[in-house]
Amino acid sequence: MKENIAKILKKIYDQDADYKKKLDRWEHKIPKTLTDSELEGLKILDLLPNQFEVFEHDTALQRLMNLKNHKKLNLPFVNALFLKGITGENVRGRQTLMSFIYLKHLPEHKFQGNESCEICGLPKKETLDKTEELYSYYSGHSWNELPLHFLVELEEALKFDQPEITESDHQKLADLLSFIDGAEEGETPGQLEKRIAKNKILPKTDKYQRYGILQTLAECGILPNEYFEPAFDKFSTQKELWEISKKMKGSSRSDVILPLAGWRGVNKVNFKKYKEIFVDLMES
Ligand SMILES: [Zn+2]
Repeated sequence: MKENIAKILKKIYDQDADYKKKLDRWEHKIPKTLTDSELEGLKILDLLPNQFEVFEHDTALQRLMNLKNHKKLNLPFVNALFLKGITGENVRGRQTLMSFIYLKHLPEHKFQGNESCEICGLPKKETLDKTEELYSYYSGHSWNELPLHFLVELEEALKFDQPEITESDHQKLADLLSFIDGAEEGETPGQLEKRIAKNKILPKTDKYQRYGILQTLAECGILPNEYFEPAFDKFSTQKELWEISKKMKGSSRSDVILPLAGWRGVNKVNFKKYKEIFVDLMES
């Protein structure tokens, strides 16, 4: 059932939405092509469409801070989900490590800025269809922007069991890293993504899914960059990230953002960091 979730949600979210004037929002109908058992499956997983919620900065931040202290949300749990995401066994697991890293050093603060916060990137106020955001993760995508979406995804991820990780799951990531480490000095993230695609290193992924996985490795500091410390070690404010983006010389293609945008072949793979995060900390 779970592996079909993306297909079922696609039937719903690929259709045009209806504008509900009274509520000032776009809603998605349940199409006739959905079977009773598919609908029942969505209900059980709490994934019916149009689960709108209004989020405001201070309360969203507080919910994130509470998650930071949640016992279940630890590195072995999010790593296990990520490894199953890379093998393709459960693509929904790809996002949770990225969201977890964002939380790691997130500081308490007051909203600063106009529409979105210059410190944490949360919006001042925004209404989201939570199921629509989760659909992207069930489709195997992972993103490091828009932290409000991390809140939605982490609150769902807490319902998951920690998967059992095998030697071959670990090997999949190790193989990916040794492949990346073979990069030519001047290789850009875009060229790396193409090389991975050409050599079928991450089967059944599209370009943006591959970027999501690489971006997570960059957030870990496993794909290092020379501009700033990875989020795994240090929190950078949105304002600092904008400043770094502006300063970056020979800025890379617009569809790659920091920290992956700061990686070049010459930076290779930081295997020490890999060992720290995926071997030592998973065993402890
Ligand atoms: Zn903020």
